[in-house]
Amino acid sequence: MLRLQAEVAGRAGKEAGLFFPSGTQSNFAALMAHCARGVGQLAHTYKYEGGGAAVLGSIQPQPLEKIAAAIKPIDDHFARTRLLALENTIGGKVLPAGYVTEAVQLARDRGLSTHLDGARVFNVAVASGKRLAVLCEPFDSVSICFSKGLGAPLGSVLVGSKSLIDVAHRWRKVLGGGMRQAGVLAAACLYALDHNVERLADDHANAAHLAAGLESIAHVKVQSVATNMVFAQFPQEHCVPLEAWLKERGILTQMLCASRFVTHKDVSRGDIDTFLTEVKAYFAAH
Ligand SMILES: *Cc1c(COP(=O)(O)O)cnc(C)c1O
Repeated sequence: MLRLQAEVAGRAGKEAGLFFPSGTQSNFAALMAHCARGVGQLAHTYKYEGGGAAVLGSIQPQPLEKIAAAIKPIDDHFARTRLLALENTIGGKVLPAGYVTEAVQLARDRGLSTHLDGARVFNVAVASGKRLAVLCEPFDSVSICFSKGLGAPLGSVLVGSKSLIDVAHRWRKVLGGGMRQAGVLAAACLYALDHNVERLADDHANAAHLAAGLESIAHVKVQSVATNMVFAQFPQEHCVPLEAWLKERGILTQMLCASRFVTHKDVSRGDIDTFLTEVKAYFAAH
């Protein structure tokens, strides 16, 4: 576990790392470490744990004027705003580098700390060709997930300064995230780091392939494709029968009129072609 923490901190260009069982806990410990008690106005992390919008990918980066307006003036009547939290990728999309720079600068000018929910930051690294340390550099802390695209059974690592990680360590204990014989879990994350990062490019190519296939079906409207996520709209009246059609053919889905598809290491190009063939067959028959 110590090796994983040091390895991830090193790659991210930060002093220290801390292993958590989940990304939710890693983000939460970071927020508590930054804000002490009473988390104020947050960008996304706040909403994420409420589910919904971000999961469906409809949260867009807030305009900078909105961030500026959300920072409460220092006044005894108001909760103090302490932290700007961004997410990258968000809804599969890579945040424009200029946006990150300006948002972080704005936060610094107002004396705020900065946190990146980088659950999918390796997707950003692979899609943009930028090193992890470059992507993490603007932020005081970054939470990085090993169990999404990287395929480890569990685990997130929070990186930041030694003093911040010391405080997060205490919060991890409070949150019930202290682990004992965790080396075996950390070993899986180290394996993922060595074997499953570059291959994220395959997931991105597969997502583009899926989007192109869906786009060729008249009834389907692809809303966005970025890194490993595709968002597509299906006609409301077809969702239930299409889901049943696919289930009969061994493909389990939850078809919604706004559906999200995420590619990962256990979804092959062949799986995507099978799926596309069956969706096309359904629409040809209806
Ligand atoms: C998955 C995810 C989380 C939560 O991670 P868990 O390990 O499921 O708790 C937080 N933020 C983002 C961006 C995620 O993709």
